[in-house]
Amino acid sequence: MAALPAAAAQSLSPIVLKIRGACPHDCPDTCSLLTTVENGVATRVQGNPDHPQTDGVLCNKVSRYTERTYHAERLLSPLRRTGPKGSGRFEPVSWDTALDEIAERLTAIAARDPQAIVPYSYCGTMGQVQGEAMAGRFFNRLGASLLDRTICASAGAEGLTQTLGGKVGMRVEFFAESRLIIIWGSNSIGSNLHFWRHVQRAKRNGAKLICIDPRLSETAEKCHEHIALLPGTDAALALALMHELIAHDWLDHDYIARHTLGWPALRERALPWSPERAAGVCGVPAEQIRSLARDYGQCFLEKQPAAIRLNYGMQRVRGGGNATRAVACLPALVGAWRHRAGGLLMSSSSLFPLDRAALQRPDLLAGRTPRTVNMSTIGDDLLLGGSPAFGPKIEALIVYNSNPVAVAPDSGQVVRGFARDDLFTVVLEQFQTDTADYADFILPATTQLEHWDIHTTYGHTDVLLNRPAIAPLGDSRPNTQVFRELAARMGFADACFLDDDETLCRAAFGDRVDFQTLLDQGFATLPLPEAPFADGGFPTPSGKCEFFSERLAAQGLDGLPDHVPNHEAAGSSADFPLAMISPPARNFMNSTFVNVKTLRAMEGEPVLEMHPHDAAARGIANGSTVRVFNARGDYRVKAEVSLRARPGVVNGLGIWWRKLGLSGTNVNQLTSQRLTDLGRGPVFYDCLVQVQAD
Ligand code: SF4
Repeated sequence: MAALPAAAAQSLSPIVLKIRGACPHDCPDTCSLLTTVENGVATRVQGNPDHPQTDGVLCNKVSRYTERTYHAERLLSPLRRTGPKGSGRFEPVSWDTALDEIAERLTAIAARDPQAIVPYSYCGTMGQVQGEAMAGRFFNRLGASLLDRTICASAGAEGLTQTLGGKVGMRVEFFAESRLIIIWGSNSIGSNLHFWRHVQRAKRNGAKLICIDPRLSETAEKCHEHIALLPGTDAALALALMHELIAHDWLDHDYIARHTLGWPALRERALPWSPERAAGVCGVPAEQIRSLARDYGQCFLEKQPAAIRLNYGMQRVRGGGNATRAVACLPALVGAWRHRAGGLLMSSSSLFPLDRAALQRPDLLAGRTPRTVNMSTIGDDLLLGGSPAFGPKIEALIVYNSNPVAVAPDSGQVVRGFARDDLFTVVLEQFQTDTADYADFILPATTQLEHWDIHTTYGHTDVLLNRPAIAPLGDSRPNTQVFRELAARMGFADACFLDDDETLCRAAFGDRVDFQTLLDQGFATLPLPEAPFADGGFPTPSGKCEFFSERLAAQGLDGLPDHVPNHEAAGSSADFPLAMISPPARNFMNSTFVNVKTLRAMEGEPVLEMHPHDAAARGIANGSTVRVFNARGDYRVKAEVSLRARPGVVNGLGIWWRKLGLSGTNVNQLTSQRLTDLGRGPVFYDCLVQVQAD
């Protein structure tokens, strides 16, 4: 066959592009993505090898991003409800029809009281633009209720802020040089994979790894030691460590004197916490506590860096704020902050010079001060009538970047709220989730491959830019476009509603981050000191690490950290004798990815890990179906009898979509709407249950 002319051959060969983006998911790693696009179709999503934090590697979940993007069940046109709420029956309608009707309904409600309209969103994308930029402008201009976004991390964030001054800490890359790494309340292999890379390097260099977690996670089994404490007892453990540091004088007196506030009072608080006392509370041997303190103190004596990777699992209990405060005091006691590889990292997000006001425009409130609704109590709040204390009854809910029917606590009550016939619900979504089933309108949303965004992170210190790799699929639209068009229909003529998404990306940091660098390489590293608190300078009011918080004391709260027992402490109920935690299944992230078939196939079905003693006492065999229940409801699940669970604690891996579970519920059927000591957060891991063979 004759060869084709060169020009013709070129026209037949695919046009292949590599587009730089950012992983949008609620994960501390915020990877830089490289998407291969062939003739307009995304064929592969890889980790960017030029981004040091990503190092060319993605997790199992996001390496399947094209499967998720082109999923046969992607929502590709606006839908209007035709069946009863929750039935999942909808009809396609045009964007004009959907937006006209939504604007009409919201305008009528706003004429009575705009606070009756509540936005509901979280980190379905971590992007600042598709998150709260245009949405924030819209709801501020409307005067809608404000949302207290507490569902994941607010107790820890508040505890950290009261102690260190903000969500600040070590730079993650320096963990590779640490001598002792304490991984506290985290399954890093499952949910902080790129941090684990640094841990591996440290281990090869002789570092000791200790994991503190009620569950024998994949991470815990790869550490040198595992301390399987009872849920909600972390502050007791931290206070006992302080006791030992004091008893052996493993204290950096110079650092304490110069860079901390409230040491005499904290010393008095810690002294009664002998390892024996803490052992009784934590359910671990006293010798294990002594050994941990020895390892920590030894680093001080040898002037070696000791580092704590604290994560959010431990703060999802009543005393989560106090526990975070107690742990965050430890590095200052031994002067660990003197080293770049010492100190603590829970979240780095306060380090970013993000201009939230430029994005979200709170000035559009124009002096109004709407009430605030806590997202963690949405179940109860949807069922409240209007009152002077609560404000107007909630009449409309606009849900984006969240799936509250599956992820909010006490989901039986959440379902009852969403099922209200007089509630007008709009859901912006990529898939027909449990929440979307209760919508009056579902609006199809773009994925990260289809829109612009800009990202901070809470696990490292780089800003990332996400450029669209492909055109929006079907009739899907970015969240920004939806709120822009609703604003236009509701007569909001402010010029800020005309900003396009690239303009919003540029506004996020202004000239504090070089946008050309973001365009050129997809990321920009913040210029930060290597050892941020080597010489004090904490961003607290005193500039010191505040063992004692005047700000808390001024609110009538305890100024010192303490052990605050769980609302539902292990052993406190004869009817519900087992404590339950609900850490993420390895192949899911909250409720995202549950509908990706290859990932769901790896998880199999909803699982409850149970210690062999607890299973035997109930005649439960490995692999059998069991009923997990408490006064709030029940959940059917497969029992995995395994040493991953400690005695007295069961692990209900989450978060399955309710409709994909065994009986139409998920683990949040059992969790409560009670709140944490600080930060008004939920207490997912403060939950007593009973288990019986089905
Ligand atoms: S490790 Fe985290 S940030 Fe990286 S691709 Fe996976 S979910 Fe995204």
